[in-house]
Amino acid sequence: MARYIGPVCRLCRREGSKLFLKGEKCYGSKCPMETRAYAPGQHGPLQKRRRRTTVYGDQLREKQKLRRTYNILEKQFKSYYEDADRRKGNTAENLLQILEGRLDNVVYRIGFGASRTEARQLVRHKAIKINGRRINIPSYQVSADDVLEVHESAAKQLRVKAALEAAEQRGWPDWIDVDVKAMKGVYKSVPGRAEIASDVRVSLVVALYSK
Ligand code: SF4
Repeated sequence: MARYIGPVCRLCRREGSKLFLKGEKCYGSKCPMETRAYAPGQHGPLQKRRRRTTVYGDQLREKQKLRRTYNILEKQFKSYYEDADRRKGNTAENLLQILEGRLDNVVYRIGFGASRTEARQLVRHKAIKINGRRINIPSYQVSADDVLEVHESAAKQLRVKAALEAAEQRGWPDWIDVDVKAMKGVYKSVPGRAEIASDVRVSLVVALYSK
């Protein structure tokens, strides 16, 4: 499937928010958002001062922020919204839960990949097993209590070890349980809205699509 392959830090600067697209760099002082938190391009600093927003503009920006965080193309993102809307309960929370439950995201949350892009690559290369079975579909929905492991062939990769060590230092969200030595992670439960750290105003995304 096609995906965005341009410079990702520009996306953060465009959204005015850290989207955590670059692995370890995102957590350090080299993140451009620490020093140049304005839109990219010649007129970026000027736009920061002058930018006027509309309700539609705000909704659009929040949608882009969420979509880019999870690195999903427009068509699939819209189908996630439709799925979230069909489900019982709060559409905004449902949408976040669908996004969080994607296999590439869970692999990233566990720390097998330093970024969602790296996690997706691991999945595509058949380096991830769920309940003992290799799954190479990044959009696969992980269920509560599923056990994820790195396949033996990839477990020796230094980048996987480094990503896992960094994740251990940062700590894991409550719904993830990780055995670093065994390179194994459990998706304990589907997280609620309050548990998912996100500064995206998802209700604006819902408002945009429900027009
Ligand atoms: Fe965004 Fe990470 Fe680049 Fe910072 S380093 S601008 S958080 S992608």
